[in-house]
Amino acid sequence: MAVDATQPYDDQNIFAKILRGEIPNKTVYQDEFALAFHDINPQAPTHVLVIPKGAYVSWDDFSAKASDAEIAGFVRAVGLVARQMGLVEPGYRLLANTGTNSHQEVPHLHVHLFAGQPLGPMLVR
Ligand code: AMP
Repeated sequence: MAVDATQPYDDQNIFAKILRGEIPNKTVYQDEFALAFHDINPQAPTHVLVIPKGAYVSWDDFSAKASDAEIAGFVRAVGLVARQMGLVEPGYRLLANTGTNSHQEVPHLHVHLFAGQPLGPMLVR
């Protein structure tokens, strides 16, 4: 079911459970502000999700309410993960689905990081 990006935060969502250690994940990186782990259903040879540690539903929620430190920490973590994984060259793609039309499924902000092959057109036409 697609997420309404304006809904209140649901602390029973699957990524909240991952952050609390209630569900396992294949961690790639973590720090004070972010956790990065492999997507359970990869859409590319490398498909990592980067999530903020704070309780934010979506990019909209995060960009409106997170502190400057959280935003800087999260954005830096996304870049660091890609750099540490050696993805800057040959390149990678970031994607943050937000709300119904984008088919966001998990109501905790996540940035998809895709890499490992030429990634094709930006959107299905
Ligand atoms: P989105 O459609 O942007 O909300 O993407 C949600 C992503 O979360 C999908 O790519 C799922 O495969 C992924 N996902 C769902 N549950 C898990 C999980 N337990 N561990 C890792 N990835 C997950």
